[in-house]
Amino acid sequence: MRPRHIPQRTCVSCRTTGEKRGLLRVVRQPDGTVLFDPTGKRSGRGAYVCASAACIALAEKQRRLARSLKVEISPTVFEALRACAAEDDPPSGTEK
Ligand SMILES: [Zn+2]
Repeated sequence: MRPRHIPQRTCVSCRTTGEKRGLLRVVRQPDGTVLFDPTGKRSGRGAYVCASAACIALAEKQRRLARSLKVEISPTVFEALRACAAEDDPPSGTEK
């Protein structure tokens, strides 16, 4: 395995790996559109950001997601992420 492609989820803002804080997936679909992907099942190139307002803000302000996916990210994607982060109450482990 090559170390440059890490199959693990890594937040584009704080570089936390794994699902400890509930990473949110953003996917660039084959047609170039970018979506927040709550299911994690869409095909395309994915990037992850923590479900935390701070990481989402950083990803938007410093264009971390845009750089990671090499495409412009629509503000609506960040709105969707923020909505999700606000609702998500961190260390739970319990599904609704
Ligand atoms: Zn993060």
